[in-house]
Amino acid sequence: MRPKDYESGVHPVWCAGCGNYGVLSGLYRALSELNIDPTNLVNVSGIGCSSRLPYFLKAYKMHTLHGRAGPVATGVQLARPDLDVLVTGGDGDGFSIGGGHMPHLARTNVNLTYVLMDNHIYGLTKGQSSPTSRRIMKAYTTPYGGIEEPMRPLLYMLTYGATYVAQAYSGNAKMCAELIKGGLEHKGFAYIHILSPCITFNKLDTAAYFKGIIKDIPEKHNVADLHKAMHLIYKFKDKEPVGLLYKSHRPTLDTIMADLVTQTGGSKNYDIRKIIDLARP
Ligand code: SF4
Ligand code: MG
Repeated sequence: MRPKDYESGVHPVWCAGCGNYGVLSGLYRALSELNIDPTNLVNVSGIGCSSRLPYFLKAYKMHTLHGRAGPVATGVQLARPDLDVLVTGGDGDGFSIGGGHMPHLARTNVNLTYVLMDNHIYGLTKGQSSPTSRRIMKAYTTPYGGIEEPMRPLLYMLTYGATYVAQAYSGNAKMCAELIKGGLEHKGFAYIHILSPCITFNKLDTAAYFKGIIKDIPEKHNVADLHKAMHLIYKFKDKEPVGLLYKSHRPTLDTIMADLVTQTGGSKNYDIRKIIDLARP
């Protein structure tokens, strides 16, 4: 299938110049390269500008409650592990309202791909600060400028045990495509963080700002080393690493649950260590 074959026919309602267009274009390309059958694809989202993405994608989709895409997608994946499950959403939806769910997607290694478009603001509700907003940013909720330290999503996901962690900039649709493709191919919880400017409400973190802070992850970076992935984020200081940061493998939630059903034989004396890996990365 060609990238355009994944268009739903519904024209995106995002503002002209919104970073999310680059992400959508990268997603179409990734799906095309993997030749994913839209009838095997489920796109779940919460609420926000980026959470509207499922409307523009040919797939089965669920536009759910604010911050609740993760639990709904987990249910879909456990019920139908044969399908490709994709979550799309933003920084407010994922880390503020949905912040309580994110750690559990990562630590239980749900086999799904989460594409989070981070514009450092709430766009749909017209410009409130989000958990990733910079301190100095003036918004409706921070009229004197933000005073809180922004959260660090990449460190957060690594700490909670995501098995695929990557970051891209929406202006580079090719890189978005590559990293989303890698996430879809990955067996486990794949988190792709995409810096994506909101040209209408975030006048501080513009496309020029994002372009100025991104820095490629060196080719020699060992993606299998969790410590090195964390260290690289600190080493980059005020720069944002783009590329694949970390990738590892451990049993996914659906396979462990299937094994529990088939292998324990209903006996509570079953040695559960036979189906879970106790080694820490
Ligand atoms: Fe994009 Fe911002 Fe417009 Fe929403 S308000 S569509 S995030 S530019
Ligand atoms: Mg946002």
